[in-house]
Amino acid sequence: MLSKNRIFTNLYGESTPSLKGSKRRGDWKGTKALMAKGTDWIINEVKASGLRGRGGAGFSAGMKWSFMPKGGKLPNYLVVNADESEPGTCKDRDILRHEPHKLLEGILLAGFAMEAHTAYIYIRGEYFREAEAVQKAIDEAYEDGLLGPDAAGSGWQMDIHLHRGAGAYICGEETALLESLEGRRGMPRLKPPFPANAGLYGCPTTINNVETIAVVPEILRRGADWFASLGVKGSTGTKIFCISGHVNHPCNIELEMGIPLKELIETYAGGVRGGWDNLLAVIPGGSSVSLLPKEICETVTMDFDSLAAVQSGLGTAAVMVMDQSTDPIGMIANLAHFYHHESCGQCTPCREGTGWMMRILDRMVAGEAEAEEIDKLLDIANQVEGHTICALGDAAAWPIQGLIRHFRPLLEQRLKKAA
Ligand code: SF4
Repeated sequence: MLSKNRIFTNLYGESTPSLKGSKRRGDWKGTKALMAKGTDWIINEVKASGLRGRGGAGFSAGMKWSFMPKGGKLPNYLVVNADESEPGTCKDRDILRHEPHKLLEGILLAGFAMEAHTAYIYIRGEYFREAEAVQKAIDEAYEDGLLGPDAAGSGWQMDIHLHRGAGAYICGEETALLESLEGRRGMPRLKPPFPANAGLYGCPTTINNVETIAVVPEILRRGADWFASLGVKGSTGTKIFCISGHVNHPCNIELEMGIPLKELIETYAGGVRGGWDNLLAVIPGGSSVSLLPKEICETVTMDFDSLAAVQSGLGTAAVMVMDQSTDPIGMIANLAHFYHHESCGQCTPCREGTGWMMRILDRMVAGEAEAEEIDKLLDIANQVEGHTICALGDAAAWPIQGLIRHFRPLLEQRLKKAA
């Protein structure tokens, strides 16, 4: 991708994250003029750009904003989800520490478009240094008049509060995040009502991921057509991909959506350890999506629709690469431990199902399970999927379903051998 289309020009922290350095890179340029075009213009531009949420669900950002009521008696809130906890994902972290002003400017523009005067950034507890960097940026922005009663000279009041979480994965789920922000235990809420109707403190609220909000100023400055011209149909623009695991150069990199997975790994992450033929499988979108065996990795592209078509997902675009030395059963068992540990426990299929699946998988790793238990495991995963309050149940089931779909012969072989 041509570097002129990159939005995050300081992703690697080569320059200062300070306000001065950010302004030099183009942040906060003409913010007042963008706001003068009106709230409808901003929402329509974001809709026209095709921007889809970067936190995992991939819902149209402009559409989400348009659900917010206007002129109501209750205050509107914007909440930024900076609780990045999906295993393999570390993109928001780089934005928070190296490009915090992109996020703050995005909050002002998005908040104004949704008639919110107050925004909260809910940041993962472990992101201590990142929280320091964001708070420093907030202080700089207030001092410079970019936030406060007359934000960026627009006449619009905008206040931003930073709130540190305590390190629970489930608080990345938007309604659990709101519960936590209100001072309660982070447990997802039943929907409806949706947050746009009754969110934070019972008021209309939109929750967006860090990357989603941070790209908004550039979209508005360069125009919806520019962003829509990048990527592929249904997945426009650029995206930060996090590539980890058995590659020679693990990295975060911003590229156009729709890039072939093989090119992403081979060209931008130094290739698979031991060469492409040493590849076993890839998880393309964070731990919640199904893994893909090498045959599919040869041709699949990194966009929402292509990955859904192979029964996986773009998720957070965290690409975890596994070479032939990996035991895929052990890897999925490891994830099962994670989801069992992070289940909030309020719905039975998730609370009981995650533990049950974990225990079966542990026995499969050790070769102590019966061959018939493969179907039992699949049955439990199918019973958990779609039958829970929040998406953690699905996230626990999908990797297991993917393992059985793509590595059933390996499972059978191991159990047969042990028997
Ligand atoms: Fe809690 Fe799991 Fe139910 Fe989500 S699916 S509400 S994490 S028990």
